[in-house]
Amino acid sequence: ENKKNIAILGSTGSIGTQALEVIEAHPEQFAVEVLSAQSNCDLLIEQALTFKPNAVVIGNEAHYYKVFEALDKHDIKVYAGENALAAVVEMDTIDLVLTALVGYSGLKPTIRAIEAGKSIALANKETLVVAGELITGLAREKGVNIYPVDSEHSAIFQCIVGEFHNPIEKIILTASGGPFRGKSKRELESVTKAQALKHPNWDMGAKITIDSATLMNKGLEVIEAKWLFGLKAEQVDVVVHPQSIIHSMVQFEDGSIKAQMGLPDMKLPIQFAMAYPNRLKSAFPRFNFADYPALTFEKPDMDTFRNLELAFDALKKGGNMPCILNAANEVAVAEFLKDRIGFLDISNVVEHCMNKIDFINVPSYEDYVNTDKETRIKALEIID
Ligand code: NDP
Ligand code: MG
Repeated sequence: ENKKNIAILGSTGSIGTQALEVIEAHPEQFAVEVLSAQSNCDLLIEQALTFKPNAVVIGNEAHYYKVFEALDKHDIKVYAGENALAAVVEMDTIDLVLTALVGYSGLKPTIRAIEAGKSIALANKETLVVAGELITGLAREKGVNIYPVDSEHSAIFQCIVGEFHNPIEKIILTASGGPFRGKSKRELESVTKAQALKHPNWDMGAKITIDSATLMNKGLEVIEAKWLFGLKAEQVDVVVHPQSIIHSMVQFEDGSIKAQMGLPDMKLPIQFAMAYPNRLKSAFPRFNFADYPALTFEKPDMDTFRNLELAFDALKKGGNMPCILNAANEVAVAEFLKDRIGFLDISNVVEHCMNKIDFINVPSYEDYVNTDKETRIKALEIID
C-alpha cells in the first residue's frame, strides 16, 4: 500500500479534528497511526475506535486506565504522559507527524520526530517561535521537510512551489484584524473574554482565538515565517485584510506578487500539507467573486495592538527573546481566560517579561527550557 501513515498530536483539537475529516474523505491516501489528546479522553476513544490507529497517547495520566479499558481489547496500544508523546513519534511505521497541539508543549515531540527523520506538518507555530533556529537547523541536518499548516504559511508555500530557486523579495502576511479591529485602547479596556473569543472569520481553539484578537497570532506568524522561509524581519510585511480571502502573498525580485485565495477553511491547508506534492480533489466550498464585491486592505494598528510590534522586536533581537515573548503570552492568555487580567494587560505582561528576563544570544535546548520556566514564573509574579 502507498498510504501515508499519519501521527496526529492533538487530534481532539480544532486542527486535529479537521485533519481527521480530511483523512476520512481520502481513505485511499492516508491512514492514522497515532492519535493524542491532553485530557479529552472520551473524544480520543471515539476517534480511535473509528480510525483504528496503532497507538494513542493521553497526556493527562489520570485518564490512562479509562482509555486503556476502552482500547486495549481492540489491539490499540495506549500510552500516557508527556514523555510518551515524545517517544511515540519515533515509531517506524509513521511517515508524517502533524503537530496540532497547542503552545510550548509541542517543542519536545517535534524535536524527537525530526530526529527520527519524520516529515512534519506543522500547525503548532509556537514551537518555531520558541526555537526556530534549533528546529530548522535540525531539520536541515536530518533532511526532514516541514510543511506549513498555518493558512498564511501554506499560502506562501503554495505561491513558491515551482519557484524554489527564485529568491523571495518579501512576503505579505494577511491578517483579518480580529474581532476588535478599529477599536481604540480606551474601548479595549473593557472588552470581555466572550467578545474576544468570537472571531469574525475562523472557528479555532481558545488560545489562538485570543491571540488573533490581540494580534499576537500575527506576531507569532511573522516569526514562524522567518524560520520556515529563511527571511529577515524586514522581508515580512503585515496587511490587514478583513475578508480573509487572500491568505497571504509573495513578492519576487522582479516585483511580481503572487497571492493564494479561497474561502477561509483550515481543511485546505491541512490537506495541502498532508498530501504534498499532490492536490486532492475535494468538495470544500468554492469562493465566488459575486459574493465579495470588495476585498479591502489596511495598515495594522500596532500602537493599539502592541503585541504585533513586540513580536517584531523579539524577532529582531533574536536569541531567546521570542521564547520569552511566547511564554509570557501563554501565561497571560491563560490568565485572561480565567478573568484574572484585562485584555490590554496581555501585552503589558509580555513587554514586562521581555525587559526583565536575561537575554541569551545563542541559546541551547536547555536554555530554551529554562527561559520558558523563568518567564512563566515572572509573568505570574507580575499578574499577582
Ligand atoms: P485546540 O486547543 O483546539 O487543540 C489543542 C490540542 O492539543 C487538543 O487535542 C488538546 O487536547 C491538545 N493539548 C493541549 N494541551 C496539551 C499539552 N500540554 N500536551 C499535549 N497535548 C495538549 O488548538 P487548535 O487546534 O486551535 O491549535 C493547535 C495549534 O495549531 C496551535 O499551535 C495553533 O496556533 C495552531 N493553528 C490553529 C489554527 C486553527 O484554525 N485552529 C490555525 C492555524 C494554526 P485536549 O482536547 O485533550 O485538551
Ligand atoms: Mg494563521
